Amino acid sequence: MSNTTPTSRISGFHKLTIQERLNKVAEFCHLDDESRQQLARPGNLDPELADRLIENTIGTLSIPVGIATNMKIDQDDVLIPMATEESSVVAAVCNAARQCYDNGGFTTSMSGSLMIAQVQLVGAQDPSACRLKILEKKAEIKALCNACDPLLVQLGGGLHDIDVRVIHAVSEPMVVVHLIVDVRDAMGANAVNSMAEALAPHIESWTGGRVYLRILSNLADQRLARARATWSCDAIGGPEVRDGIISAFHFAEADPYRATTHNKGIMNGVTAVVLATGNDTRAVESGAHAYASLTGTYRSLTQWEIAENGDLAGSIEIPMAVGLIGGATKLHPTARACLEILGVTTADRLAQIIAAVGLAQNFSALKALATTGIQKGHMTLHSQNIAMMAGAVGSEIDRLAQRLIDRQAVRLDVAEQELELLRKQ
Ligand code: NAD
Repeated sequence: MSNTTPTSRISGFHKLTIQERLNKVAEFCHLDDESRQQLARPGNLDPELADRLIENTIGTLSIPVGIATNMKIDQDDVLIPMATEESSVVAAVCNAARQCYDNGGFTTSMSGSLMIAQVQLVGAQDPSACRLKILEKKAEIKALCNACDPLLVQLGGGLHDIDVRVIHAVSEPMVVVHLIVDVRDAMGANAVNSMAEALAPHIESWTGGRVYLRILSNLADQRLARARATWSCDAIGGPEVRDGIISAFHFAEADPYRATTHNKGIMNGVTAVVLATGNDTRAVESGAHAYASLTGTYRSLTQWEIAENGDLAGSIEIPMAVGLIGGATKLHPTARACLEILGVTTADRLAQIIAAVGLAQNFSALKALATTGIQKGHMTLHSQNIAMMAGAVGSEIDRLAQRLIDRQAVRLDVAEQELELLRKQ
């Protein structure tokens, strides 16, 4: 064995084939054969495509895709693919949807398909005058931006409006131009970034300032997906359950420690559909959390109230920058198949479905928390995971999982002991 320290300075790593890169990695950290073979297994994404989607690819990672049933959205029944590694997420959506199905399911809408690109101008002597100078050029700005993307314009999109603000940064006042662009069925990042870059030299020449950043804002507050539903008070277990859910919402509204977990639950559902459709999970997540803090306090993305007839009314409003073209949506064959299951033909419809899933997820989490607690529902799947971690295979998994539940000790150490006993019997 060589005693030279391995180095991460691997020149030309990106030029190697996937196999060659894997060999280098294996050599660097002495990967055993099992790990090597595991990483080399292709799954359902062609390695050649994987290598084109990102840089320095050595393999792929498969995540289960589950289907949320019982969803009725705007009077249409829809099956929803969800990609997640977390147990109970899919079941939670199915349960929530079943409980409001007879009440009409979910009603959704969209504020628009507008994304914002920001152009940062510094060094302007007279920022307020510069602001107006830029606003005066609106028609020219529109022509310049739209010339970047004739296809988008042909599809009914393109520059919708501009906004110019002076912000007081720690170093100096900055003039920030917002290009508000209708991106139709794209997520829109590349589309608006190109416009911001094309516009930058013009803004410099009109103002005498210097442009630094030209990039979209993930705070997509002009692309809000909305969903609402009502759950019959009797069907969910009576006024006590309803009031427990509302009290849980009030807790989240008043306390960021709780709101973070409350919204994390919502994102369990949201991110699973965003990922299944090949969309950008980080874009949606950053937008959602920023939107939750727009008032200056981090709050709930959902609202829960008592309806006029005493039922439970839930609603959600969440930025939803997702598309049907661009990124991996069109390239990843599994994402394409998931979009086919959903039967969506517009990005708006996809965004609305995702909002409904977020609301459903939140209903189930709050109902469980306000009644039996979350662990009971989690335990079956969690105990199976623990059983597998302990080494159970085939029929051993269910038997061992049941033993852990019976012993009320769903723990790895107990699972290992019980597996040994089970195998001796
Ligand atoms: P894109 O540039 O691949 O596709 C958008 C283009 O497709 C449009 O500009 C238009 O010319 C064309 N088009 C064809 N049919 C269309 C239709 N029906 N509606 C709209 N456009 C249509 O993709 P994009 O959506 O601009 O960018 C998405 C990608 O950018 C994602 O992969 C995302 O991860 C990445 N990204 C994100 C960030 C961020 O979130 N901060 C930054 C940079 C890049």
